[in-house]
Amino acid sequence: MYIFYLIINNKIMKKFVILNVFILIFMFFYTNNYSFAFADDKYYYTYEVEHLFTHCLLAYPDIALAKDNEMQLHYNQDCITHLEFKNILKQLYKNNYALVDINKCFKVENGKAVKNKIRVPIGKKPIIFSFDDVNYDHKKLHLGMIDKLILDENGEIAELTNINGKEKITYDREFVCIMEDFIQKNPDFSIDGARGTLNLTGYDGILGYRTQKNNKVNRDTEIENAKKVVKKLKSLGWTFASHSYGHYHMKKISLDNFKIELQSWKDEVGELVGNTEVYVYPYGEWEILDNTGNISKKHKLLEEFGFKLFCGVGMQQFYSYLPFDKSIKEKTLFMDRKVIDGFTLKNRTTALKPLFDTNVVYDYTNRSLVN
Ligand SMILES: [Zn+2]
Repeated sequence: MYIFYLIINNKIMKKFVILNVFILIFMFFYTNNYSFAFADDKYYYTYEVEHLFTHCLLAYPDIALAKDNEMQLHYNQDCITHLEFKNILKQLYKNNYALVDINKCFKVENGKAVKNKIRVPIGKKPIIFSFDDVNYDHKKLHLGMIDKLILDENGEIAELTNINGKEKITYDREFVCIMEDFIQKNPDFSIDGARGTLNLTGYDGILGYRTQKNNKVNRDTEIENAKKVVKKLKSLGWTFASHSYGHYHMKKISLDNFKIELQSWKDEVGELVGNTEVYVYPYGEWEILDNTGNISKKHKLLEEFGFKLFCGVGMQQFYSYLPFDKSIKEKTLFMDRKVIDGFTLKNRTTALKPLFDTNVVYDYTNRSLVN
C-alpha cells in the first residue's frame, strides 16, 4: 500500500506510469500491424515463371501405344501417359513448384500486356501448366484417349470413354481430374486457387463436344453440354486460351484465311469459354514481324481480336518482350512453354532436371510396347 501511495503521489512516477500505458497501447496496435506485416512476409513477388505444356493424356496407354494402333508412334512422341503426368505432379510438388494463373502473370497498360509481379508463398516457385488441343478429335476416338470430359450425376468433372462398346466413367485418367485430386491432397500446390489452362482449337469442337458450325446433326445439344463443363471448369479455377481455330501453320496461311480463322474461333469457341487475352501459337510457329521488318498484318489482326500475351514453344525459360529490335517501339509480351511429351521425357533430361527427374517420371512399362 505504501508503495502504491508513493507511486500516485510521486509526480515522476505518475509520468512513468502514463508513459508505460502509452507504450502498452502503442505495442497493442503495433503488434496488430505487425501481424499484417507478417502475413506479407509469407510471400515474395517475382516476374519469373515456368510454363509447361502437354497434350491430352494417354488415358489408356496399353491401347494408345499398342502395335496395331495407327497413332502409336505419334502418341509415343507427342504425348505422355496418365501415369507420367501423375509422376510429374509429385515431382514438381517435391521440388516446391506451385501453380499460378497465367492471367495473373500480366496486366494490360495502354492496351498492351506488360509483366505483372506474381505473389508467391515463400519457399514456392511459380509454374503455369497448360494443355493443348483439348478437343478429343473424332478421328482419334477409341485410340487411347478419353472421349470427353463430362459432369457426373453429382455435377463433378468426370471422364467418359467408350471401351469396346461400353461407356466407362473414370476420375483418374485425364489431367483435369488428376490435377483436381492432387490439389485436394496438396492444397499448397495451387497458389490462390490456380489450376491449368486449356488451349483450345475449334475445328472439331471442344472438350469432346462437336460444337463446331459444321455439325449439322446435334450442335445445339453439344453446345449446351459443353457449356456446363466449361462453367464447372471455370468455377474450379481452370482458364482458357486460343490455340487457333484450325491448327494451321502461321507462316503458310493467307491473311484472308487467317482473319476467317480468328473470327471462327471467336464465334464458336470464344462464345463458349468467354474472352481470353492469351494466344497459343499452333506448332509454336509465330510471326510478329513481316519480311520487311515491320509488325506483320497477321500479328496486328491477333491484337485486334484482343490477344495480349503470346505463347510459343521452347525448352529455355523465356518471358519477355518481342521484337528485340530497338527501333521498333511496339512490343509484344511473349512467353515460351516447355513441351512435355514422349520425346522430351526421353531426350531432354538435363533441361527438365530442375523441374523433375525424367527417369522417375518415365512410364517404362507402357512405353516398352513401342520398339
Ligand atoms: Zn496444338
